[in-house]
Amino acid sequence: MNILESINIAPGHWGQTRVRQGQHIRVTCPEGSQVADFWAFAQDDPSVFLSAEHTRSTLEKLVPVVGDALYSNRRHPMVRVVEDTSPGTHDFLMSACDPRRYEILGVTGYHKSCAENLCHAMDEAGMVTHELPSPFNIFQNVTIGENGELAIVPPHVQAGQYLEMKAEIDLLAIVSACPMDVAKTNGPDGKIRPILLEVLG
Ligand SMILES: [Zn+2]
Repeated sequence: MNILESINIAPGHWGQTRVRQGQHIRVTCPEGSQVADFWAFAQDDPSVFLSAEHTRSTLEKLVPVVGDALYSNRRHPMVRVVEDTSPGTHDFLMSACDPRRYEILGVTGYHKSCAENLCHAMDEAGMVTHELPSPFNIFQNVTIGENGELAIVPPHVQAGQYLEMKAEIDLLAIVSACPMDVAKTNGPDGKIRPILLEVLG
């Protein structure tokens, strides 16, 4: 396959692109230790979107692996994982970070967030959504304790590793290079890093 489009997403920013059925979406962590929130919306109907809860219940697993589809809120495949050079640590449980999350963490004043990045990306794409779906948190490391305790801990992903998905329908793909620098979501150093979003066909 050839690289048709390459979007360098600066730390804390977003990228969006329309992807045709059969094309591949590659999300790369160029410097390691950075989470990429991913959303997909059907191009012809943004009320159809990638759904964490429908994917978990259809797959009966917490995290999709190579070969698994990720499903829409209507339970149709939207993308399928075709390659994963990362350690396979991703999260499909947690919501995107949003302004209130930063307020709860003690941040005063404005802070960028993945939820707002999703809204900016939809505006940029000229599409309207009435819902803010939960993302597929690529490279996010969430541990589950014996009694169900959840913890967001530093990612395992190393520089240059990527996750690649095939589009099963024509879709709008959105990625946010998570701006979280308060919790350890993107590593213990509190730094945020870039993400590379590519379309292959
Ligand atoms: Zn985030």
